[in-house]
Amino acid sequence: MSSLPAHAVTPVLAEVAPDVFAYIQPDGGWCVNNAGLIRSGGHAALVDTTATERRSRALAATVAELLHGAAPEWLVNTHFHGDHSFGNAVFDRSLIVAHTETRAEAERAGLGMTTLWRDVDWGAIELRLPDLTVDAGAVLHLGGTALELIHPGPAHTTGDLLAWLPEQRVLFAGDIVMAGVAPYCLMGSVAGTLAALDAAAALDPLIVVPGHGPVSGPEVIAENRRYLRWVQRLAAEGAAAGASALEIAAAAEPGEFAGLGEAERLVSNLHRALLELDPARPLGAPIDVLGSFGDMIALHGGRVPASAA
Ligand SMILES: [Zn+2]
Repeated sequence: MSSLPAHAVTPVLAEVAPDVFAYIQPDGGWCVNNAGLIRSGGHAALVDTTATERRSRALAATVAELLHGAAPEWLVNTHFHGDHSFGNAVFDRSLIVAHTETRAEAERAGLGMTTLWRDVDWGAIELRLPDLTVDAGAVLHLGGTALELIHPGPAHTTGDLLAWLPEQRVLFAGDIVMAGVAPYCLMGSVAGTLAALDAAAALDPLIVVPGHGPVSGPEVIAENRRYLRWVQRLAAEGAAAGASALEIAAAAEPGEFAGLGEAERLVSNLHRALLELDPARPLGAPIDVLGSFGDMIALHGGRVPASAA
């Protein structure tokens, strides 16, 4: 592991397998995500960008150093959220690949995420949509390395891709897996994320690079599963008692999850889990995102800070 040049925050670059790099941004909170770079035989793919112009330029400088000034041919967006994709325009020599739903959601959402955190210095960001869309998945052949892109169904959003290196057994999980911070399934599905975690575990990874938080082993998949099953239990019991998502969240005893950051996400996850108690409703159906943010602010006891500035 080596520390990168100082910025307001200091990302950490970890070579998790030969020529496979995780770009980790502490502390992994709201809008502070991870990226990855795979290089092989003169070819390269970047997995995700970052939220702000400054952070994305720092990522670009690291990528340029690793590639001796060349640009990665491919940029994979694991999903549409701005922390993973607002830096797309900085990588203007790369072909962006994403799930069909991710492109559609990115177009609908635009730069709307910036209005949720108005005090963040976003810089000169502009929307750059994916060039190539895939549905079930695809394989990028980078020299001698295969990078499998797998859509596991609705999970963190409706258009997630897992980025999997079968030979190195490294999984870039996007926000389907969170380490040290609470999972967040509002815009996708709790049940779907559990299925996606099963699919991730079945790949049998040695290394899991989560969308937020430190590089992990496969145990992080089981931790995320336990949290989401707890959410489902709370939703079922709370609904039987006629409680609202906010009431259930406020009364919940976090137990082993007490140490997770972004604990306020519980109420958003409950909104989604409550919807999913109705089996007739398709997984990933539209939901009131702004209303859930209001509940997260109420549960947090004030506005939810982002450390992306
Ligand atoms: Zn996300």
